[in-house]
Amino acid sequence: MDRIHDFVSHAAARKPDGLGVISQDDSQTTWKDLQAASEDARNRLQEIGVKSGDRVVLCFENSIEVLAFMLGTSQLGAASVVVNARLTGPELERIVAHSDPSAIMFSIGSSPAASDHAKAHGALNVSGAFGEVALCPRENSQPEPDFEDVAVLLYTSGTTGHPKAAMLTHDNLINAAKASADVRGMQEGDVTYLALPLSHIFGLVTILAICFAQGTARLETRFDVKRLYAALQDDVTLLPAVPQMHAHLFHYARANDMPRYSRGLLRYVSSGGAPLDPAWKREAETFYGLPLQNGYGLTECAAGVCATRNDLGDPDISVGRAMLGSELSLDMTAVGAHPEEGIGEILIGGPQVMKGYFRDAVQTADVLTSEGWFRSGDLGRFDEEGRLHIAGRTKELIIRSGFNVYPVEVEAILTEHPDVIVAGVVGRKMEGNEEVLAFVKTAPESGLTEAVLKDFVHGQLAPYKRPERIIVAHDLPAAPTGKILKAKLIETFAAELD
Ligand code: ATP
Repeated sequence: MDRIHDFVSHAAARKPDGLGVISQDDSQTTWKDLQAASEDARNRLQEIGVKSGDRVVLCFENSIEVLAFMLGTSQLGAASVVVNARLTGPELERIVAHSDPSAIMFSIGSSPAASDHAKAHGALNVSGAFGEVALCPRENSQPEPDFEDVAVLLYTSGTTGHPKAAMLTHDNLINAAKASADVRGMQEGDVTYLALPLSHIFGLVTILAICFAQGTARLETRFDVKRLYAALQDDVTLLPAVPQMHAHLFHYARANDMPRYSRGLLRYVSSGGAPLDPAWKREAETFYGLPLQNGYGLTECAAGVCATRNDLGDPDISVGRAMLGSELSLDMTAVGAHPEEGIGEILIGGPQVMKGYFRDAVQTADVLTSEGWFRSGDLGRFDEEGRLHIAGRTKELIIRSGFNVYPVEVEAILTEHPDVIVAGVVGRKMEGNEEVLAFVKTAPESGLTEAVLKDFVHGQLAPYKRPERIIVAHDLPAAPTGKILKAKLIETFAAELD
């Protein structure tokens, strides 16, 4: 069976001096170097007792070291638990306790946050062709039966509650990488700007797609809008990003009086991982002069499930059609379904569907049907042309006086206001009903008020969809990808809501 590290061994054998990764400090790593770094990482892990079927926690910000350790872990037949170093200590501890690893690696070279965690764990610094990392063996890790096919344990963003650990097999990730390369038409000469965290499925599958297609990654440790702007004038040909990154870029460009990007080599831009706001799509297309493709994916299906292939200026805000290998279906009997409007819960099938949640048979049974479909928890409908439109998430659906309110619809209206950067809409249960609450992020100098926004939405939303409260803030709680953590909104702004 093919394994994820085979992508890099093939690349190293075929074009050893080809440029695989350009890091944030502009250092260049060839495929041959990456292969050597991964073999060194494998040896280090083997020395501290890591074996097939084990888990290795990789706590990091984007770097060559983490790639080397992910590939080295795969070479040993163990699974990487990829974790963003910017998690707090207690969040990391929960993941360590749950994933029960036989070793933890911290990519200290590029990450102050990982260095702090390494110190707290008493990890020892080791160096090799992979650079310098801190390593910490753990005793008494319990073997997991039937685990050799698992490549990565990936915790979901936790947008709707506590993160869950999706078991992604080599087969899942290899298929996802191929589908992702396919939809972008990725080729050897392509340079992909990659500021998405590799600890998130979107970034992880993108780097694997680059390894598969033997292109080049400009791998950024952290997203920096000025660096992105500069890189676009240089050699970047592909730009996959979350919607918030595009919004940062066009706000930055507008503030600096550079509203249009004069195109260099860029040929493909996509948005994924969170709902794409229609206003953002328009602004992004004006800026890039290219269509902004919208991709829908989730951790449990190894990222890309479907994506658009639109022309420039197409107002279509769907997520397009199924990508290579994936199948889609709608369950019209699910919570939040609205058969008269053709809205049902999105079910996903195909070779990207995860094996299950790690050590959580109950939640696994909730989401995987006996026929192997994954219940996404997202609501959607197909249009006449067979393109999928996301209506929202079953968990986020608000039922106000018996009517369904889909938060994305309200969010899209709010972000039409020029001073709103991003909006999050949630429901709050009250006796016998549920109320609609909105939270918007605005620039500190905007002077935007709740009253102005209430007026703004009044003529555009039916009464039951209008938010009872619109909290205007300069920041909203967000995941490392920039996605709003809706589960934390009410608690964060409890004082303003009372
Ligand atoms: P948790 O399951 O822990 O709450 P999460 O679902 O946010 O976390 P991810 O796997 O990062 O974890 O996100 C997947 C979800 O993001 C999808 O289920 C969907 O709701 C949303 N999503 C992804 N891409 C799009 C898109 N293009 N348009 C609309 N929604 C999207």
